Amino acid sequence: MRIAVQAETDPHESRVAATPETVKTFIGLGAEVAVETGAGRKSAIADDAYAAAGATIAPTAAAAAAGADVVLRVRRPAAAELAGVKPGAVVLAILDPYENLAALQSLAGAGVSAFAMELIPRITRAQSMDVLSSQANLAGYRAVIDAAASYDRAIPMMTTAAGSIQPARIFIMGVGVAGLQAIATARRIGGLVTATDVRPATKEQVLSLGAKFIAVEDEEFAAAETAAGYAKPMSPEYQAKQAELTASHIAKQDIVITTALIPGRKAPVLITAEMVASMQRGSIIIDLAVERGGNCELSRPGETVISDNGVKITGNLNVPGRVPASASALYARNLVNFLKPLIDKETHELAIDWDDEIIKATALTRDGALPHPNFQAPAP
Ligand code: NAD
Repeated sequence: MRIAVQAETDPHESRVAATPETVKTFIGLGAEVAVETGAGRKSAIADDAYAAAGATIAPTAAAAAAGADVVLRVRRPAAAELAGVKPGAVVLAILDPYENLAALQSLAGAGVSAFAMELIPRITRAQSMDVLSSQANLAGYRAVIDAAASYDRAIPMMTTAAGSIQPARIFIMGVGVAGLQAIATARRIGGLVTATDVRPATKEQVLSLGAKFIAVEDEEFAAAETAAGYAKPMSPEYQAKQAELTASHIAKQDIVITTALIPGRKAPVLITAEMVASMQRGSIIIDLAVERGGNCELSRPGETVISDNGVKITGNLNVPGRVPASASALYARNLVNFLKPLIDKETHELAIDWDDEIIKATALTRDGALPHPNFQAPAP
């Protein structure tokens, strides 16, 4: 079995889909691995390190792909980049399938079986494959570091001979994987941390991390979690109550980090322009939901907006990619954990059980078609 690791073509992507560690693992499983030259450059991995792990270094993406059974990528490759792979080759990547049906159809046309790593189900067996978690965790961490770096004051309380400095008040909105890590990081650097979410299960998690929980805890709140553990979209009445509660709280915050998402939908707007106007000059908002429309009315993808009253609102794109070496290390391990059960121990070839729950949830192209019920081509 031949595995290809191609360099990412998006200039803003700094991650890579394999590391020397995972190359070694694949070779141990009986595979040959070809890595495109320079693939690890932005994640501080030299070609030599891949070669030392047993990979061959391919001069181009096409040379890496030639004869491959499996292609590993961070982002969805263009079909043209897969020329030369074996028929039925497997492609593992974050496919970003919503609104991108044409791209999926062209992958299907290329004859590959493409798996969307962001659709791994949140079941116990799949935890080690869960790229959303591994990447969101780093995003939550980095959001706090970015906030601290652009904040004009110190974060922790300091008692000095020249007098004391008050700790920064840090508010985390949305306590999923990213939010939990943001709380932990903000606490570690000495912030005074509060957090909110619409799922009741998060209250205990927030308290266990030593932060204070702030939320409208009514009947709707008690039923806000889906069976899959995600938030439901909240009613306009709940949102109005939530806005009222958070408005008075936000006005007193130095740093607000927003991470609130609803799967497959636009992110809820939690911070209005009016709330921003109530904040102190020099306060910071980091909007981790900016790629999905944003939790703050004023945030813009890839920009830092400064409001009229001097609040900095940052909407960095690809936040896990701002910690590229760590993000690549974890993403690459997620791919190993996904691929390993698909490799036959005796033949060392791919043997995919297409009825498996994880395969069904992630396989978006197969045999020239789109098998996933949520990503079907429209009837002609
Ligand atoms: P997510 O990225 O979809 O959303 C982030 C957070 O935003 C969620 O906690 C959500 O409740 C919150 N949110 C949504 N609307 C909001 C609003 N109006 N106001 C405030 N907060 C709002 O979430 P995630 O990080 O992917 O985690 C979702 C769930 O999946 C969690 O329960 C998590 O523990 C669980 N999970 C399970 C596994 C597993 O079992 N394998 C792995 C990872 C995560």
